[in-house]
Amino acid sequence: MSQGELFDSAAPLVPDGPLDEVRDAAQGCKACELWKSGTQTVFGEGGKGSTVMFVGEQPGNDEDLAGRPFVGPAGRVFDRALDEAGIDRTLAYVTNAVKHFKWTPRGKRRIHQKPNWTEMNACRPWLEAEIDRVQPQVVVALGATAAQTLLGRDFRVTKQRGVPVDSPLAPVVVATVHPSSILRAGDDAAREAAMADFVDDLREVARLMASD
Ligand code: SF4
Repeated sequence: MSQGELFDSAAPLVPDGPLDEVRDAAQGCKACELWKSGTQTVFGEGGKGSTVMFVGEQPGNDEDLAGRPFVGPAGRVFDRALDEAGIDRTLAYVTNAVKHFKWTPRGKRRIHQKPNWTEMNACRPWLEAEIDRVQPQVVVALGATAAQTLLGRDFRVTKQRGVPVDSPLAPVVVATVHPSSILRAGDDAAREAAMADFVDDLREVARLMASD
């Protein structure tokens, strides 16, 4: 077993230093099996001191190749929703609960697979370190994986979306859907309705940011 191969938790790999140091250390992480499937660790993006941090599930195909979070189709939905809600993405920190892409082959395509609880647990120390270094006023979990990583396995986005939750992680922690769920809506009308609900949740996030 080489350095970083713990297959348990990334916690011992997280340095005490600043965010850049944490980002560099995460590049060599092999704390769960997902380092084998992803091209690279996709760490969060944004500045220390960002008022809001958005946490998605894991990098998708495009993010895995680019090494950047939320740059694929779901990222474009996210950007449009942020714009409609009046939130400047360049002032936000954007990351994922799990930093490697988990996928299964289907022909020439790589199909997203949801990370399991062991993988979510193994990767959580990187996310906790990001929250600790960035110190956002508002943390927004996007989808069930991020919400359950941050708020526990019993958390249900369908029942509790948009409602701030008491948490030691940040002054305000709130969950909404993942933008990829809008792409999966059955038809145009369902997609429009899902997008409108998502933008409403982000407007509430903008309001919470302004009440800092
Ligand atoms: S998914 Fe997270 S814990 Fe697993 S190898 Fe990648 S960075 Fe490490």
